[in-house]
Amino acid sequence: MAAAQRIVIENCSIATVDADDTEYASGYVVIAGNRIEAVGAGKAPEGLENVVRRIDATGHLVTPGLINTHHHFYQWITRGLATDHNLFNWLVALYPTWARIDEPMAYAAAQGSLAMMARGGVTTAMDHHYVYPQGSGDLSGAIIRAAREMGVRFTLARGSMDRSEKDGGLPPDFAVETLEGALTATEATVKEHHDASFDAMTQVAVAPCSPFSVSTELLRQGAELARRLGVRLHTHGSETVEEEKFCHELFGMGPTDYFESTGWLGEDVWMAHCVHMNDSDITAFARTRTGVAHCPSSNARLAAGIARVPDMLRAGVPVGLGVDGTASNESGELHTELRNALLINRLGSHREAALNARQALRLGTHGGAQVLGRAAETGSLEAGKLADLVLWKLDTLAHSSIADPVTALVFGAAAPVTASFVNGRQIVEDGRLLTVDEDAIARSTRDEAQRLARIAAQG
Ligand SMILES: [Zn+2]
Repeated sequence: MAAAQRIVIENCSIATVDADDTEYASGYVVIAGNRIEAVGAGKAPEGLENVVRRIDATGHLVTPGLINTHHHFYQWITRGLATDHNLFNWLVALYPTWARIDEPMAYAAAQGSLAMMARGGVTTAMDHHYVYPQGSGDLSGAIIRAAREMGVRFTLARGSMDRSEKDGGLPPDFAVETLEGALTATEATVKEHHDASFDAMTQVAVAPCSPFSVSTELLRQGAELARRLGVRLHTHGSETVEEEKFCHELFGMGPTDYFESTGWLGEDVWMAHCVHMNDSDITAFARTRTGVAHCPSSNARLAAGIARVPDMLRAGVPVGLGVDGTASNESGELHTELRNALLINRLGSHREAALNARQALRLGTHGGAQVLGRAAETGSLEAGKLADLVLWKLDTLAHSSIADPVTALVFGAAAPVTASFVNGRQIVEDGRLLTVDEDAIARSTRDEAQRLARIAAQG
């Protein structure tokens, strides 16, 4: 086998986000093949062989690539609708449109969602896709193809809904699958696409949508299926007061107790939102190592509330960040969520140091890797891990007068991305994607959004 080609990045600040929060004011990173070979202070070691590229990263901060832990890619083509609604009203307004999506729409929307994140420093993305209309084609395959073409590491959370209006749920009857249909299709998706290897670019999780759109049986059997196949479990939990009320009325208990009763707490589970959690819910998550995808902008957009992230971190709950679907977070960016998480949690807790810049960066990197079950492979800059990293340009007007680079990145304006590497391959240069044509995606997503709106208007 040929020796791995090396890329040397030097003269940069580095925030490794390792267990000790090791940082270098001026240091280097050596990439060998798809792995990080070395990280350290000062100049890179002399005499390295097979160096194909040397990057002078003066004026930059290098961090692990950002990791998005909750999203719904298809919503890229239904942005800017139902803009003044809470969660339940927003869902009811949008379900009829979403139930019309087909394969070309899912592919274009996935490209739009992925491109927006990737150009802002995301190296690992996830998509919780749960709308599978009859006859809509191979939606999961189309979404995975979009991620592969872009070169982003990816987890597809194969979602499902089987509790419609006739069963007391929220989605219309025509928008859901059957219990058996959802389980069979989910198993087939795992078998076709899940890669359990260290450097996997594609993984699949089992992901029934939420307590108010999924039967108890689908939750229970979904958990059994995931554990039989050895993959992770994902869903929405404790997002709003309306959901809490729904759970009490239908199941006689709150969401966390309901999840526990159906096998949905555990170190192989992560849940989006977890806004309405009492002390005992947080203790249950910490005890079982259940992860949380914190989505501050989406929670603000839908007036859902503020998750107790500082309390979760103190209790030892793994927490990552999520954009959430872009119908409830139109910007579609994750790097701005570092700042939003910090600001919103200070507002929510009324404590000035409830979350600091380093904790916010950790949520967006190592915390994300933890909840996706990939902390051994990515999420920090350490020798032997996968080469997923970002060069943030901090020497322009926006940041140059802030001395501390991590403070500049988190507190300051969204920083320009000079380069982003996934699996050792550069996918972004000077804020532009190298792997796909952004302008073509802008056109196709506009066209597919218009086509969906036309079809939905016909009813
Ligand atoms: Zn969501």
